[in-house]
Amino acid sequence: MIRVENLNKSFDGFKALDNLNLSVKKGSVYGLIGPNGAGKTTLIKNLTGIYKPDSGSILVENEPVYENTYLKQKIVYISDELFFFTTYSIMDMAKYYAGIYKNWDWNMFEKLREIFKIDVKRRCRRLSKGMQKQVSFWLGICSRPDLMVLDEPVDGLDPVMRRNTWAVILQEVAERNMTVLVSSHNLRELEDVCDHVGIMFNGKIVLEKALDDVKGEIHKLQIAFNGETPHIFKESLNILHSSKFGSVETYIVRGKTDIIKAVCKDCSPLLYDILPLTLEEIFIYELGGMGYEFENILI
Ligand code: ADP
Ligand code: MG
Repeated sequence: MIRVENLNKSFDGFKALDNLNLSVKKGSVYGLIGPNGAGKTTLIKNLTGIYKPDSGSILVENEPVYENTYLKQKIVYISDELFFFTTYSIMDMAKYYAGIYKNWDWNMFEKLREIFKIDVKRRCRRLSKGMQKQVSFWLGICSRPDLMVLDEPVDGLDPVMRRNTWAVILQEVAERNMTVLVSSHNLRELEDVCDHVGIMFNGKIVLEKALDDVKGEIHKLQIAFNGETPHIFKESLNILHSSKFGSVETYIVRGKTDIIKAVCKDCSPLLYDILPLTLEEIFIYELGGMGYEFENILI
């Protein structure tokens, strides 16, 4: 769906995007995660054709996005700064969207009243920030885009509305194979909804992962031996981190569960247990292995 290669964008000599590469599959929910100033918004503005890249290529459904009105019909972008015309009510905005987006769905607009629960005669600019965000989602979803790009979308939404909004978006993903790219500075905020995560730092994607793969790749192993730890044990496993508390040793190991189990059995421990890691733990070890401090990037 999206393929970005060697993308560069500078502002007055400052490299906001630095030879960035990224790829997003159709129908996936891709979380773009990184600290403030990493370049997420700049990347998104390039992806949605608002900025013109200095160099590199951006293809959305195999077409360049910049000045491509046909493609922009299929993309909804909910920015961190919302836009509504001064005197427009929600209904006026809906009519405006219906004029722009060919797939606009009035039935859906009616149906989603039950979820968003705001009187459509109210003026958008007079609504609270959180309500304005709700309206943006409402309008965005009814435009039935192929690609939804969300920049820090959960800011300002209360927990119930956050859950409802994600439920509606994920339904579109499941039913129509809509693709979602969503940015946040917080991993925990997105881990429940994303199937892919790209970690962004200093204008680059430093790590891109499918979450299903990630969870099967790294494990926490707790093991106790009767006496010395056998040499063969440490030599046979790809150990990322180890610690010891009393006679119980804890290892963070990269590899498939079956193989780790086989190695453990061969070494005849007193006991052992293989546990899954939380996503946060996985990223601590992955980024640590690449020379990045997790805290600097994802807290
Ligand atoms: P994020 O969304 O990850 O917080 P941004 O993409 O907004 O980061 O910004 C990345 C860097 O680019 C920041 O250092 C920011 O100051 C700079 N930047 C972004 N937009 C502009 C602009 N229009 N002019 C100058 N510098 C900018
Ligand atoms: Mg931003």
